[in-house]
Amino acid sequence: MFCYQCEQTAGGTGCTKVGVCGKNEDLASLQDTLIIGLKGVAAYAYHARELGYRDEQVDAFMSEALFATLTNVDFDLNRFIDLVLRCGEANLRVMELLDKAHVARFGSPEPTRVSTGTKAGPAILVTGHDLLDLYELLKQTEGTGINVYTHGEMLPAHAYPELKKFPHLAGHYGSAWQNQKTEFEEFPGAILGTTNCVLIPKESYRERMFTCGIAGLPGVTHIKERDFTPVIEKARQLPPLPEKEGGTLLTGFHHNAVLAVADKIIDLVKAGKIRHFFLVGGCDGVKKARNYYTEFVQKVPADCVVLTLGCGKYKFNYLDLGEIEGIPRLIDMGQCNNAYSAIQVALALAKAFNCGVNDLPLSLVLSWFEQKAVAILLTLLHLGVKNIRIGPSLPAFLTPNVLKVLQENYNIKPITTPDEDLKEILG
Ligand code: SF4
Repeated sequence: MFCYQCEQTAGGTGCTKVGVCGKNEDLASLQDTLIIGLKGVAAYAYHARELGYRDEQVDAFMSEALFATLTNVDFDLNRFIDLVLRCGEANLRVMELLDKAHVARFGSPEPTRVSTGTKAGPAILVTGHDLLDLYELLKQTEGTGINVYTHGEMLPAHAYPELKKFPHLAGHYGSAWQNQKTEFEEFPGAILGTTNCVLIPKESYRERMFTCGIAGLPGVTHIKERDFTPVIEKARQLPPLPEKEGGTLLTGFHHNAVLAVADKIIDLVKAGKIRHFFLVGGCDGVKKARNYYTEFVQKVPADCVVLTLGCGKYKFNYLDLGEIEGIPRLIDMGQCNNAYSAIQVALALAKAFNCGVNDLPLSLVLSWFEQKAVAILLTLLHLGVKNIRIGPSLPAFLTPNVLKVLQENYNIKPITTPDEDLKEILG
């Protein structure tokens, strides 16, 4: 960790870790947290801006917050804690803005069953988060006989009316980002990476891989200004996919869709038929410890509902959890930015039950990996949400002192085992 006072690595050669410098490890930790959170805010702001939406307050906060991380500008820990929470507030604004932009451009998502099989014919696989890239590709491939498949965080695209209207948006292929090397190698068509969480390709598929927008990979053709002609031409030259049956995945539970059945959900809670809600979501990753999330969802009792978002869902979204009187027990709210939808549902339930979000029968069990997850965590803290469980491990950039503040004020805790955590939550 970089020490912003003595300008060297804390704990490195020459670091005395005494006096003011020792205290600055916490300051450096908060600065790192802020910078990581800002990266998440920037990602959402970028997507919104591409769709023609921007927020002056978010832009102003980003300038102020980045400025505050300059060397020797600010050594006040309390001011930094405030800035970190304000980063959560800015992220809430920008997630709201992005949701507004998505809904205005592509319509309000509807619960949608998505095929995981393949159709016979040439194909392009699209990974990342950028719905505008997908939309433009769908327009450019219309009538060409090329099918387009989603990968990773693109799954929720199938739920937007203006995207699902394309009959050649043929289905979903594969799972989360960490499995790209295996899944892309097996996919015979062209592949397009639109955003972060795109891995450096293996030689076996490098020449049929493309990037666009913010994404870039060594030795991979980068598409400019959303002219996907090279991707389309490559798909035409490559072997077609076979006709193959698959299963289905259910997605598209935007807050508009969930709130449309809010009365029914509230009645089921009041009647004791829904005992508890769990928000189990965030990022997926390679660590074996993330199997916790599969086991956790498998062990959630039959009278409980699981909400999910982000690519962490691939740990369990293939499971059939059934329904409670027509309400699915596994509700996929979308991409990580759709944490905004989860927040809207929680706030609406709190209003209906005349209580605070922390008093709802709702527990958050999050998996984190990258910057957007940190921004979302800061949003939850800004909203005063307590008792969040985080895994597979706590962020290493939090010093013991910063962690202590989070634990004392918000009761953040690491995941333990599914059995222990479920026992503690449900009593
Ligand atoms: S949820 Fe996080 S880890 Fe997963 S693809 Fe999105 S940004 Fe990457």
